[in-house]
Parts: sequence; C-alpha cells; structure tokens
Amino acid sequence: MSRRLVIAIDGPSASGKGTLAKRLAAHFGLPHLDTGLLYRAVGWISARTGRSPAEVAAGLTASDLDDPVLRGDEAGQAGSKVAAIPDVRVNLLKFQKEFSSQAPGAVLDGRDIGTVICPDAPVKLFVTASAESRAERRFQELRRRGVDTIRTRVLAEMAERDRRDSERAAAPLKAAPDAWLLDTSDMDADAAFAAALAFIERKGFRSPGP
Ligand code: C5P
Repeated sequence: MSRRLVIAIDGPSASGKGTLAKRLAAHFGLPHLDTGLLYRAVGWISARTGRSPAEVAAGLTASDLDDPVLRGDEAGQAGSKVAAIPDVRVNLLKFQKEFSSQAPGAVLDGRDIGTVICPDAPVKLFVTASAESRAERRFQELRRRGVDTIRTRVLAEMAERDRRDSERAAAPLKAAPDAWLLDTSDMDADAAFAAALAFIERKGFRSPGP
C-alpha cells in the first residue's frame, strides 16, 4: 500500500518556500495550500471591515483567498499581526487540517505546518536563507511588480516581521525537530527543487513516471 505523501514546508518570508511548495505540488500532482494567505486575508479583511480577527478567521472561505492585494507587503504585515492572536490560529486550524487530509496527500507551506498543523507529515522541510539574500529576492520581486522601494526598507520590514513571527507565544516560527533544513542562500529555485526532491525520494517516495 502506498503511503500518503504530505509535505510540510516551513520557513521565514522570502526563503523560497512558496516557490518550492508549488513546484513539489505540481511534480507529485498534489493540492497545495499557501497558509500565509489565510493570515493575510484575516488581517486584511478585519482591518477593512472592523470585524474582529478571530471572527473573520472563523468564517474564512477559499474564495476570500483570491484577492491579488493579499500578495502585497501591507497584507503581509497585517497577516503577521493577527497571526499572534491565539483564537485566530485556533479558528484557522480546521481549514488547514481538512486540506492536509485529502486522499492523495497535500503540500502546505507556512510557519507552523511541521510543528502544529501536520505533526505527523512524513516529509518536513524547513527552508531558510540569510536575511540579506531574502531581502534581495524580495526587493527584486517588488521591482518586477513595479513597486517603488529601497533595499534598506525591504530589509528593515523583513527583520520586523521575522522578529514578530519568531518571538510570539502562539506557534512561533521554528523548525520541527524532525524537519530537514534546506538553506537556499546560495541556491536558485531549480537547485532548491532538486535538493528537496532528492530528500523526498530518499524517504522512499517515488516521483510519478512520465
Ligand atoms: O508566508 P506569508 O508571508 O504569506 O505569511 C504572512 C504572515 O502570516 C507571516 O508573517 C506569519 O506571521 C503568518 N503565518 C503564520 N503561520 C503560518 C503562515 C503564515 O503565522 N502557517
């Protein structure tokens, strides 16, 4: 009998975890959930409507995740603030657990996937990179999107978000003890994908045939 492949990917912002998660999901034909979008949507909707973040989290639906504004830095900061509220995390748990229980398996990326959402995932990756290389990637991405900013500002905002995510009491960003550490500071997306794939195959999961 084949084992369900659940891939739990955690790491700080701009570590390359999102791109890696998407590519692994496409490769193995699995559904993918970017869980950061849930927190971004809760922060954004609650700031706009004045509803409490916990209430917004309880009623969140998949269609709330489609708004392109959620990809911006403002929504990222709003997401990181509401992510420190324990009731928000509790109210988003069911959605994420159900997603990860789908029959073929799933790929989820975030900050607490290997520690809280999918503690039994057979594959856990903690993707990291130096603050400078993450800030440089983020800066280049913003420039491509036509956002006018400067490197030092991107680095400062990233440091602020890293600090908030790592120091909060509720599910802080940290690697699960059984996660495999992948430092992408000197890797491009292809190299990170190849390294992760080799690790998953070493765990006994075969890639789908052509
Ligand atoms: O990954 P992304 O930058 O989209 O996440 C936005 C914010 O959501 C993060 O800064 C973090 O505070 C929060 N988050 C979280 N747990 C997750 C995913 C994201 O606390 N599983």
